[in-house]
Amino acid sequence: MLDADFFRRWMTATAVSVDREAERLTALDSPIGDADHGSNLQRGFTAVAAALEKEAPDTPGAVLTLAGRQLISTVGGASGPLYGTLLRRTGKALGDAAEVSEEQLTHALRTGVEAVMQLGGAAPGDKTMIDALVPAVDALGESFAAARAAAEEGALATTPLQARKGRASYLGERSIGHQDPGATSSALLLAALAEAADE
Ligand code: ADP
Ligand code: MG
Ligand code: MG
Repeated sequence: MLDADFFRRWMTATAVSVDREAERLTALDSPIGDADHGSNLQRGFTAVAAALEKEAPDTPGAVLTLAGRQLISTVGGASGPLYGTLLRRTGKALGDAAEVSEEQLTHALRTGVEAVMQLGGAAPGDKTMIDALVPAVDALGESFAAARAAAEEGALATTPLQARKGRASYLGERSIGHQDPGATSSALLLAALAEAADE
């Protein structure tokens, strides 16, 4: 079973890896965006880590809803409301149980990803974070490691796609040949989840 501490470790590990990879995320957002994805998420997850330390929520659902709220209130870019919605809706779906099963997490995360698709209007293949998140949720029933690998693969597979949502879509065919920054950060989120499970 997964407790609040597991979810805090997931969020903290995400903050650490976003910090470490911020320059790479911003560099990916440079040719097909406005070169701020790394700094956007760095600001957001720094706020998440600080809020979790200060408030120490004691259920999995409360950890994720607090994290989601922080992202929405601190990140100005498209990714803030989208990741914020992902975590908030996943947290809501977990309810107020003190511990949840991996199966419950998989189900809740699917609810969260669906909320992101509804909010942003993106479908798989549109060259967004959805291209990493959907395969990850599909693989999560198998294992955390499988979800991590699926997200990484999904992120890499955005390179040949033409963007149909977000800033990159303004470039039309010129968005082809670049890996999507948001799909790349989603792979970091899933890698952090696998790390939290390994601890
Ligand atoms: P902004 O584009 O506002 O500067 P960011 O650079 O932080 O925001 O985030 C860009 C990422 O957000 C993209 O790489 C893409 O993965 C994701 N994104 C943008 N629009 C959408 C959308 N409508 N649905 C899903 N993901 C999206
Ligand atoms: Mg940007
Ligand atoms: Mg921006």
